[in-house]
Amino acid sequence: MLYRNSFAGITVTFVASSVLTFTFYEASYTTFKFNWWLAISFLLLLRMCDVVHWYKKDKIQNYNPDNAIVRYISGTYITALLWCIYGVIVLRDSDSFELAGTVVIITAMAGGGATVLSAHKTTSMAYTFILLVPSSLCLLYQDQSYRQFLGGLGLIYAAVMIVGAKNAAQFTAQAIKLKNENALLLDHMEDVVEERTRQIFSLSNIDPLSNLLNRTAFLKHLDKALLKAENKKNILSVLFIDLDGFKEVNDTVGHEMGDKLLAKTAERLQSYNDEQLLCRWGGDEFLICIENTEKSAVFKIAKELITIISQPYFLEGNQLSIGATIGMTFYPEHANSAGQLIQLADTAMYHQKQRNPGQPKLFSEEISSKLLRVQSLKEGLNNAIEQGQLRLHFQPIMCSSTQKIYACEALLRWQRDDESISPVEFIPIAEKYGLIRKIGTWVLHEACTQAAKWPQDCAVNIAINVSVIQLQASDFIKIVDAALASSGLSPKRLNIEVTESVFATDKCILLRQFKALQLRGIKLSIDDFGTEYSSLSVIQNLAVNTIKIDRSFVQQLESNGLAIIKAVMQIAIALNYKVVAEGVETEEQANQLTRLGVNFLQGYFYAKPICSSSIVEFIENWEPCNEVKNIRGI
Ligand code: C2E
Ligand code: CA
Ligand code: CA
Repeated sequence: MLYRNSFAGITVTFVASSVLTFTFYEASYTTFKFNWWLAISFLLLLRMCDVVHWYKKDKIQNYNPDNAIVRYISGTYITALLWCIYGVIVLRDSDSFELAGTVVIITAMAGGGATVLSAHKTTSMAYTFILLVPSSLCLLYQDQSYRQFLGGLGLIYAAVMIVGAKNAAQFTAQAIKLKNENALLLDHMEDVVEERTRQIFSLSNIDPLSNLLNRTAFLKHLDKALLKAENKKNILSVLFIDLDGFKEVNDTVGHEMGDKLLAKTAERLQSYNDEQLLCRWGGDEFLICIENTEKSAVFKIAKELITIISQPYFLEGNQLSIGATIGMTFYPEHANSAGQLIQLADTAMYHQKQRNPGQPKLFSEEISSKLLRVQSLKEGLNNAIEQGQLRLHFQPIMCSSTQKIYACEALLRWQRDDESISPVEFIPIAEKYGLIRKIGTWVLHEACTQAAKWPQDCAVNIAINVSVIQLQASDFIKIVDAALASSGLSPKRLNIEVTESVFATDKCILLRQFKALQLRGIKLSIDDFGTEYSSLSVIQNLAVNTIKIDRSFVQQLESNGLAIIKAVMQIAIALNYKVVAEGVETEEQANQLTRLGVNFLQGYFYAKPICSSSIVEFIENWEPCNEVKNIRGI
């Protein structure tokens, strides 16, 4: 502020000193006045140079203001001293005309100084003091009374001006302080606004767990990339990455560790190529968009990504391993929109996960039509019961030694308009889309009701397939009880078949449900034995009644099927299970299995699944076996 005011101050001082010197040049002290004028002009020139220097350099650079202030104040004090010398010397002998002119100019200079120097209190007050007080005292000590009067007036004026200078300086200081505070506040506000903007961006665009883009941000960027690809006629691919085995990690070492694993995976994906568009889509799913890269190169990238993800992770003393399956789509070949590309890549990934996990898969029309088929079956199944499209067929299970019927297995049939859909196709869909419990309950009621209606002589056991999902449900036992109660079927006639996959589920629930069923006299069979999760120790703990050897082994009796069946028989005898062989298609197979000690046989050799209206007739032709008679107390 001192420097800003100085141009005007110096100029006015120069003009005033020149006017004073040359107006009253001849009156007195001619040589002194000229020398004084030379001195003050030289000083003002130096001060002007200093001001120019300040404007050009100091102001721009981040300089130390103390030096500039010292220079400025020194110049001001010397100026004040020169004025003081002028006043003291000239006012002594001046005539009244010169006296009046000099007093007016010096008081005006003092008044102006108080304003111009208000940025520096001491200097401002001292400047006024030096200019006015010595000259006034000089006048006071002169003989003429009007000069003494003028001296007195000068002192009073000096006192008023000094107080005025002090107040002006304080006011200016306050104003400068406020201005600086405002500037600081503004700076701080800018920082806060910047930080908030960053936080808002982060909250709305970044997934906090992985530090990657979130869904919304990825979709926004993908839209832009698609627009670019469209304009430049480029191709673009979307990779849908889904981790394999992540659920197991979560279940075994906990969610916190699972989160850390996801963060590490994200790090690996990012460091693979941080220029590609990458996001965490949700859960253990990641998406990558690769621009303008050929199919073969994208395949290579996908394989490399799987390798990178599959490297072991070392987290807090744990060594963890996961894998990844990747589905891929290309713009414009498969879809034009971001949503569609992602959905189809997801479909390809899902399709691959069922068949060949740990590998990349390019989306194809074949996958698409399978998807449409699943969709259509899912919708149809929703009201298949209400539409009366479900039926039960029954396939006899024969006692190998007596060739009499032991039981009938209820097998579900879905007749949808003109199409007969296999349970191999629709049961997994019902399981996946939450329809199996409704359908399974219908099967239980229907099978129990029909079996209960069979004439006394044909009252063989009824085997019902139950999905693991049904078995796990807390109301399963109630549903079974209700089916038995409403049909009036004896629980002893009921066999429940669950596939081997049951052993992959929670053992506690399984044990509780099995016990509850067996307590009622219901028998349990392990279906498709040998195809999946074999755990003989668990079978023993659960005390199941029957093992059903999968038909693939029966069909391989000529080759390695025989050894497997022999082994199963040894264990079954040791642990006291009954064994059923499924898929018996020839007399030779039936004889061989009988010789091996298999208790029961089921297959086309005896009968294909028979519709409910014909099953009684079949049973009547083939007598029920002794086990059945024992159950019925015959
Ligand atoms: P599963 O329980 O192993 O049923 C035996 C399947 O083998 C039946 O197929 C039957 O028709 C077939 N089969 C019987 N003997 C022979 C033979 O000698 N040769 C050949 N090649 N096949 C034979 P289906 O009826 O198509 O049932 C397939 C699967 O669907 C069943 O396998 C079962 O896992 C499931 N399933 C059927 N009904 C139900 C049900 O009501 N509930 C549940 N959860 N699953 C069911
Ligand atoms: Ca079965
Ligand atoms: Ca089976």
